[in-house]
Amino acid sequence: MNIEELYKEIILDHYQNPRNYGEFDYSSSFYRGSYPFCNAEGENSLCGDSIYLQFIIKDGKLIDIRFRGSGCSLSIASASIMTELVKGKTLEEIDSLIKRVKLVMEGKEEVTEDLGDFQALEGVKNLPVRVKCVLLAWTVLEEGLEDYKNLCKRKEMSLWEE
Ligand code: ZN
Repeated sequence: MNIEELYKEIILDHYQNPRNYGEFDYSSSFYRGSYPFCNAEGENSLCGDSIYLQFIIKDGKLIDIRFRGSGCSLSIASASIMTELVKGKTLEEIDSLIKRVKLVMEGKEEVTEDLGDFQALEGVKNLPVRVKCVLLAWTVLEEGLEDYKNLCKRKEMSLWEE
């Protein structure tokens, strides 16, 4: 199997068996009332992809994440790979991961081994129309984290005012 075939297999595997797929079980005692649930969604109208994310942040770390989505294999595979890469990381680490993934897709940075299965998606940078499919989940997470940070700021401010 050459590297291109291997990459195709990896993408297909994430598409057919997406990791961290679904939604949190709100009734589970682990999640109940413990942490704020964050969610974010977005779509790529060029291709008809849509992604919905849920994630939980505790002590500055993204401790768990789920996604649902519909669309092409690239958008689903990229979302699945993303959830594996960001789980357990700090918000700073995730910010830099998102920046690097974008640079890779813009052809400005080489993909490296620590990006795991995302290496299989690097070749899509040569198909400009499909780059948005790959980046969808990442931009949705980026926006979700922005919302989370803004919410924290507002909370701190209102506490301070009280
Ligand atoms: Zn797509």
